[in-house]
Amino acid sequence: MLNTKSEETLAPVMSAYGRFPITLEKGKGSYVWNTEGTKYLDFTAGIAVLALGHVPDAVEAALKKQLGLLWHCSNLYHIGPQEKLAQMLTERTCCDQVFFCNSGAEANEGAIKLARRYAASVLNKPEGHIVTFNHSFHGRTLATMAATAQEKIQSGYGPVVPGFKYLPYNSENSVADIASDDQCIAVMLEMVQGEGGVIPADKTWVQQLSAICTEKGIPMIIDEVQTGMGRTGTLFAYEQYGIEPDILTAAKALGSGIPIGAFMAKKGISKLMTPGSHGSTFGGNPIATAAGVATIHAFEQQDVLAQCTSNAAYLRDKLTALKESYPKQLTAIRGLGLLIGVETKAPAIDLVNELREKHRVLILTAGKHVLRILPPLVTDETEIDAFIAAFDAVLKEL
Ligand SMILES: *Cc1c(COP(=O)(O)O)cnc(C)c1O
Repeated sequence: MLNTKSEETLAPVMSAYGRFPITLEKGKGSYVWNTEGTKYLDFTAGIAVLALGHVPDAVEAALKKQLGLLWHCSNLYHIGPQEKLAQMLTERTCCDQVFFCNSGAEANEGAIKLARRYAASVLNKPEGHIVTFNHSFHGRTLATMAATAQEKIQSGYGPVVPGFKYLPYNSENSVADIASDDQCIAVMLEMVQGEGGVIPADKTWVQQLSAICTEKGIPMIIDEVQTGMGRTGTLFAYEQYGIEPDILTAAKALGSGIPIGAFMAKKGISKLMTPGSHGSTFGGNPIATAAGVATIHAFEQQDVLAQCTSNAAYLRDKLTALKESYPKQLTAIRGLGLLIGVETKAPAIDLVNELREKHRVLILTAGKHVLRILPPLVTDETEIDAFIAAFDAVLKEL
């Protein structure tokens, strides 16, 4: 025993998160209410999870139905909604097979394991490394933390899992480096670096990377945990880059807030997942996959991708106008679809706090001087106007 139980009253939840001082109790669409009944416009969407907004009717109905049927049975049996969701994903992506897990980090962890398996059994390079990029974010498990090329994520958790090499994002030198790197067994990247500051990948660069991977016979892993499920205007962002990943990961918006993750691959790679090679007690659970099936149905019934594209164009125009009004305060607008970053001169967190405290609007940061704006994809012009009015008022007071 290292010490006795504390005599002082400590918060019972560990302080791993810096939390804003409100407790949210209820949500519907783009709005949330705290325990005091105060209503907020939520342009965080639970960090890109709530593509359909809070408690979307279609998914709620599907969940209620599934709750009366079966909650859990383990992967020792076939699971109807799991097979249905896998079929829906393979029909809508370049991948042939899907493995379900419970989070983004787990999806990437699985993708890394699959790439290593391919390296060991097909490439005959069991000691090779996976190239990832500076400022990437792939998760917080030991392997995905090692894949994440950010000192602040890894610090204090050594020894760091070996088998990763970091190169600059959007740099032609990185392509040349991979070309001449005999021990590179896979390349892993985000189409837009979300946590790393909302930085879209350059299209030509991605195409060069894809070409070099094909030439070397190594898989390209695309982490679409944040960009996937319509966030950028297409179901997956890779579709806009004119390339196809060999391994693709998804999580955040896949279950509309019910925890779920997935990694998918083309058959030449996915078939390496033989019985006993990987597993997860809860992965592909009936509740989570029923939420996924209902989410994709809702996307198509409500034409959510078209809504995302038009909302993104509208919001982008309004932000561009604000940037022209406050050129000293707002220095750049970046992103793809409704994954939008705004570079600010003032600390981004100050603006986030002002918006929340004075205007009841919630947005995020992505680094010290980047605001990250992630409305539900089904937001509308009235809500966007309300956000812009609040943002304008905050900028006026700076
Ligand atoms: C959020 C995120 C992850 C990690 O997902 P968790 O569900 O938090 O484990 C991984 N990659 C990207 C690109 C993300 O945005």
